Amino acid sequence: MILRLILGDQLNENHSWFREHRDDVLYLMMEIIPEATYVKHHIQKLIGFFLAMRSFAKTITSMGHAMVYIQLDDPENTQSFEKNIERLTMMYNITAIEYILPDEYRIDKILSELSYKVHLPCQAVDSEHFLTSRFELRDFFSSKKRYLMESFYRHLRKKHEILMKRGAPVGGQWNFDKLNRSSYVSGIHIPEVLEFDNRPDDIIDMCTRMKIPHMGSFDAGRFIWPVNRQQSLELVNFFIENGLSYFGSFQDAMISKKWVMFHSRLSFSLNTKMIHPGEVIQRVIDYWHSQSIGIELNQIEGFIRQILGWREYMRGIYWSLMPEFAAMNFFGHHRKLPHYYWTGHTDMNCMHMVIRQSLQYAYAHHIQRLMITGNFALLAGINPDDVDDWYLGIYIDALDWVEKPNTRGMSQFADGGIIATKPYVSSANYINKMSDYCLNCYYDHTKKTGFKSCPFNSLYWHFYHRNREKLQTNPRISMMYRTWDRMSENDRKDILEQAERYLLALDIL
Ligand code: FAD
Ligand code: SF4
Repeated sequence: MILRLILGDQLNENHSWFREHRDDVLYLMMEIIPEATYVKHHIQKLIGFFLAMRSFAKTITSMGHAMVYIQLDDPENTQSFEKNIERLTMMYNITAIEYILPDEYRIDKILSELSYKVHLPCQAVDSEHFLTSRFELRDFFSSKKRYLMESFYRHLRKKHEILMKRGAPVGGQWNFDKLNRSSYVSGIHIPEVLEFDNRPDDIIDMCTRMKIPHMGSFDAGRFIWPVNRQQSLELVNFFIENGLSYFGSFQDAMISKKWVMFHSRLSFSLNTKMIHPGEVIQRVIDYWHSQSIGIELNQIEGFIRQILGWREYMRGIYWSLMPEFAAMNFFGHHRKLPHYYWTGHTDMNCMHMVIRQSLQYAYAHHIQRLMITGNFALLAGINPDDVDDWYLGIYIDALDWVEKPNTRGMSQFADGGIIATKPYVSSANYINKMSDYCLNCYYDHTKKTGFKSCPFNSLYWHFYHRNREKLQTNPRISMMYRTWDRMSENDRKDILEQAERYLLALDIL
């Protein structure tokens, strides 16, 4: 018998493994404590993964394949990949093991040592999920210093002939970012959220019995995220019909009354492999072509850029730079994450809204992650290890290969600028422009110093001041230093003192 291992984020029922029925193959899936506890996960993330894994196992069995599924609370569960495999090896007379290449460095290490540990030949096969190979980005940039997303994205557009016409980009330009930075225009209808009615009671009981630590809440009684391919495809179609036509324009906008605007919420389905990025892109393009009243190209390109561009790029970065990447801390930041990241209890309304939403839904969109919680952590000088753990735990879509490059790289600039050309920091100005958060805030977004002055404002200048040596030669930042230097000495002193006071009181802001 050959034992084929399927991990919790490898739920691709269209994988070539399942195209043929073989009597000499046994599939294995397992829920184990180390995977449920390597960080403190959001309760909805635990529910989502366990429900989706169980549903996948049922599908594979109903397709006629032999499957062993080990539940977390199974008394026979040894809670280890190797030990569970060893146990089954004896029971089923296993002579070889096959596994799908994992996306996570940590798991890759474990599985690459499996053969030696269980004394059986092991072979890895491709996940058949991504549009690039593991090391394609590394090879693409082999002779270059910078890893520019835009170059890699254009390479992929050409390679896969996506939005291309006779070798040139459709519409004559590659990038529509300038059109895609609008704040919300009131009156434009925001679609309802597509919620599924999945029932996870037994999983919640199991996590409680097994004392799996978790954060966040689950009040709805039903689990609204997709947990199988059919639901995932429904979500794709729902997004295409309801969100796509404004996706690009408002992808950076934030408003208090809605936790989802025009974003797709497809990251969980994509990252668990229930759907393939290629099929999402194809459906978007087909829909676009089928519409008599055309959707603007900037909406389509803006969305495809996320999946074909950013997603593949982040994965490529991860495999190019791990394991060193996981320890990078360019600014030497060391402060602890303030307690309100775990509760949302802060007077900073933008932080309160985004953290509260994240705790309630295990979701925030890109700009909420980057320019609110990430921005604040960077300005406040929080240790990137803490920041990583928080992002890895709280979001339903968080897996190491995509969370780390986004958090440590893009958001915290801990890689010193491999991913981002300059740190993503902003004062209240940007937050006020892109959201309505400042309208209901205890702090005053117009004030840099004094009573109720917005912490983002003084911390912003403090960040640039304290990191001057590391940043001032960056041509994209030099203007900031000229602005700072033009301020009077007294103003600069007041701002820095204000920031110091806020840093001392970080936990009670
Ligand atoms: P949409 O805005 O609808 O975008 C469509 C799809 O594009 C997403 O589903 C996702 O698969 C892909 N995508 C968009 N931006 C990115 C990006 N920067 N990197 C990779 N894929 C992208 N994404 C994750 O999937 N997992 C994470 O753990 C994660 N952590 C993040 C941490 C930080 C600090 C930041 C700034 C971003 C992070 N992202 C992560 C990227 C992005 O925020 C999410 O992919 C997105 O918000 C998911 O929501 P959505 O499906 O509605 O995305
Ligand atoms: Fe956030 Fe400052 Fe605006 Fe308050 S005033 S919402 S803290 S940016």
